[in-house]
Amino acid sequence: MAKIQMKTPLVEMDGDEMTRIVWQQIKEIVIEPFVDLKTEYFDLGLKHRDETNDQVTVDAAERTKELGVAVKCATITPNAARMEEYDLKEMWKSPNGTLRAILDGTVFRTPIMVNCIRPYVTAWKEPITMARHAYGDIYRNVEMKVEAGDVAELVVTAADGTERRERIHNFDGAGIVQGVHNTDVSIEAFARACFNYGLEMHQDVWFATKDTISKTYDHHFKDIFEKIFVEEYQEAYKKAGLTYFYTLIDDAVARVMRSEGGFIWAAKNYDGDVMSDMIASANGSLAMMTSVLVSPSGAYEYEAAHGTVTRHYYRYLEGEKTSTNPMATLFAWTGALAKRGELDGLDDLIQFAKSVEKAALEVIESGFMTGDLVGLCELDDVHKLDTTEFLHKVVEFIEK
Ligand code: NAP
Ligand code: MG
Repeated sequence: MAKIQMKTPLVEMDGDEMTRIVWQQIKEIVIEPFVDLKTEYFDLGLKHRDETNDQVTVDAAERTKELGVAVKCATITPNAARMEEYDLKEMWKSPNGTLRAILDGTVFRTPIMVNCIRPYVTAWKEPITMARHAYGDIYRNVEMKVEAGDVAELVVTAADGTERRERIHNFDGAGIVQGVHNTDVSIEAFARACFNYGLEMHQDVWFATKDTISKTYDHHFKDIFEKIFVEEYQEAYKKAGLTYFYTLIDDAVARVMRSEGGFIWAAKNYDGDVMSDMIASANGSLAMMTSVLVSPSGAYEYEAAHGTVTRHYYRYLEGEKTSTNPMATLFAWTGALAKRGELDGLDDLIQFAKSVEKAALEVIESGFMTGDLVGLCELDDVHKLDTTEFLHKVVEFIEK
């Protein structure tokens, strides 16, 4: 059988530990037998990031802007222990942080649902996609400890030197203060990314903040979303039969729990961080959560939401065949291939990506799965496979 041809290469960002092994296995077992795979390879493995002073991450991000579609393996974010383990020159920043800063994107996370694993929230029938604003708030904060007698003020100095100040608190005992910020440009890009993704996925968009308490800060998010929606998207949403819905964050949480799912839930940076972990664990396994970074310039970067699965890697190094779940990484590949197919008008590539996803879901629904899913699955007849057995099973189902 002739292999499916590609036009434009994917930006391929390799990574670390167990996921680096699984990455190779996915390519060899599932993709390369069917597709004449074209990629531009960037090795974001920690060793190579260190050798290139992390330039490789910047290069990969820049190339993603040019080519439009990237697929990324999980990578180590160095900490003190990793400094020693890899004898690093510097404690390099999180690659995902670097990519997000350069691509200025919004992260969309969606659980992969299978019919034999019921979410803990029994009302959910369709996946809920979490859209997390990836800039500012407490992730770019300034904070201090203060002493009794300290007066904390918020001071803003205008370009001409004039100051505006507001009392935060008069401390008669020790305490803490924090300053946070965001920018209109970033919030607008976030809003557009969410509304575009809603149209693309044909799903409603929900957005929630705490604007009743934060009458200026959170309210500004609400106003920007409303303005962008009315001016740029309302017509398209009406035509598509979709809605944009704003509510308070606590009301959103309550409604999400009662909902059937199948919508995009946009949240500020911290809310999105916390709620995407809630959505992931309520669906059973972190290994079943996909993630895509969508930049306002139209570039897409696909990855798994989980990390490098370190504990499995150490067992792998001792010669054990691990039962690491490749689903989220596999779906990162199929997401990227399908998007490439869409941009380049390659129907057979889109069809291939779809058939891999369908086969992988059917494999699990037929009772063949990795260890992490075994305890969650409701089928009577369940077979635990190691990673390569699982991937071969997927190919068997594709060929069927
Ligand atoms: P992790 O790699 O996601 O793993 C946490 C645990 O979740 C694993 O030990 C494993 O549990 C389970 N798990 C996660 N993915 C799995 C899979 N595909 N199949 C089966 N089980 C899976 O998170 P971590 O241990 O906190 O972080 C490890 C490294 O990954 C760190 O260096 C961190 O910096 C990095 N990280 C990278 C990204 C990214 O690149 N996007 C994201 C998060 C973390 P059991 O061991 O109990 O089986
Ligand atoms: Mg988190």
